[in-house]
Amino acid sequence: MQKLSDKDLFRQQGLIGGQWRRALSGATIDVIDPATQTVLGTVPDMGRDDTRAAIAAAAKAYAAWRTKTNAERAALLEAWHGVMIAHLDDLARILTLEQGKPLEEAKGEIRYGASFVKWFAEEARRIGGTTIPSPTADRRIIVLKEPVGVCGIITPWNFPNAMITRKVAPALAAGCTVVIKPSDFTPYSALALAVLAERAGIPAGVINVVTGMPAEIGAEIMANETVRKISFTGSTRVGSLLMRGAADSVKRVSLELGGNAPFIVFDDADLDLAIEGAIASKFRNGGQTCVCANRILVQAGVYDVFAEKLVARVNEMKVGSGLEPGVAIGPMINEAAISKINRHVTDALSKGGRIATRPAALPKGAQFTAPLVLTEATTDMVLAHEETFGPVAPLFRFETDEEAIAIANATPFGLAAYFYTSNLKRSWRVAEAIEAGMVGLNTGMVSTEVAPFGGVKQSGVGREGAQVGIEEYLEMKTFHIGGL
Ligand code: NAD
Repeated sequence: MQKLSDKDLFRQQGLIGGQWRRALSGATIDVIDPATQTVLGTVPDMGRDDTRAAIAAAAKAYAAWRTKTNAERAALLEAWHGVMIAHLDDLARILTLEQGKPLEEAKGEIRYGASFVKWFAEEARRIGGTTIPSPTADRRIIVLKEPVGVCGIITPWNFPNAMITRKVAPALAAGCTVVIKPSDFTPYSALALAVLAERAGIPAGVINVVTGMPAEIGAEIMANETVRKISFTGSTRVGSLLMRGAADSVKRVSLELGGNAPFIVFDDADLDLAIEGAIASKFRNGGQTCVCANRILVQAGVYDVFAEKLVARVNEMKVGSGLEPGVAIGPMINEAAISKINRHVTDALSKGGRIATRPAALPKGAQFTAPLVLTEATTDMVLAHEETFGPVAPLFRFETDEEAIAIANATPFGLAAYFYTSNLKRSWRVAEAIEAGMVGLNTGMVSTEVAPFGGVKQSGVGREGAQVGIEEYLEMKTFHIGGL
């Protein structure tokens, strides 16, 4: 891999019980740079037997890991955070090469990813139980918090670093051990994190990484009774499949799934602030973000001026390799992503939508697409109902608050929602009426390690980050003491 200052961070093997391994079958898969479509390297194409070995390694490491003191686990997580920050530039470069996002955004993701490690290192020291007043004088009742056990961690390609730390850091803090299955598009960020965890002194077997066949690895994680919890971030389709698969052995599940975020701009909004929010929320990571504004609803009185301002900003965006300075939109992850975007745009144009931006200069390469503002969007268009997952900003026109709320909620998803207004009463009314796990008022950013992250409806189950994030990896044991 080009220009890494620490070449050992580029690891092309899986990690099982402290050993860097090939697949038992010897098979490999190629990992492609989406900007150039050249092969960056290979990773093992692991399947069921490799996954079983990784689960056994995690189970073996569990006994010693869970009995370390919380302060010891916290210190190891602090050390992991320290090496992540020390290698921020290399981690960001690996991320951009395999995923495509602009390098500055990749650095932002590494900082964000590391923030969970730091946060849960701190939270590890605060895992406490409760004492419950007993109904009789001769008894005492105490609730102990204990780790859930071995966890299967399955993550997507769009945030290949942070989606791992957001799960693994609370799992480790709680005393769990993990088997990570990163996306086959972006395994190198996961493997680099595992190299750094080893260097930080996290014992062998606490973190295991299997790369390769999603369905086979997933099937073993679902069926294996040693795995007590699955934490998944990805599409609603795969999330519901995992939830069904986890049912047979009654595993706990946490699911962070797809979204279809509304972004509502009312007549009384600070329009410049709303434009900043729309740019951040819609175009970050080329629009390949679960909390991304998918439907921009603009009240009729400010529709034209908002559209004009947004178009001016989007017209300035440079498309290209994430390694090139000044690039705002990198390549999309694969050709299927480009086809989906084209399908949404073609459908919108056939139903009266209009592209208001001028054609962007695109570099060579099948995976680049132009950022677009699409005006006169309507709710019968496909992009009103499915995640576009690309840099397309459709502007819907509305008249009343009730209409905006009805459109916003007309989706089976409920991850993030955003709205802009300067009216206090409206702020409360809309915030309470919107069906979403996270609502941004006059801000386009809702992700931080200090606040709960997660969705309602088909956007997921459970929350990550904040104090509650660690609870997902803890069981309660009620301890009744009698005969006093
Ligand atoms: P995906 O569901 O296709 O894949 C996610 C992970 O699941 C990958 O590691 C993949 O290899 C694996 N997988 C696929 N089939 C599997 C199977 N049968 N068994 C087990 N694992 C399997 O999603 P993606 O395309 O990688 O990511 C994009 C999706 O993730 C979008 O829908 C996005 O909204 C969502 N997402 C949600 C959040 C959130 O926090 N809610 C964050 C990021 C992304």
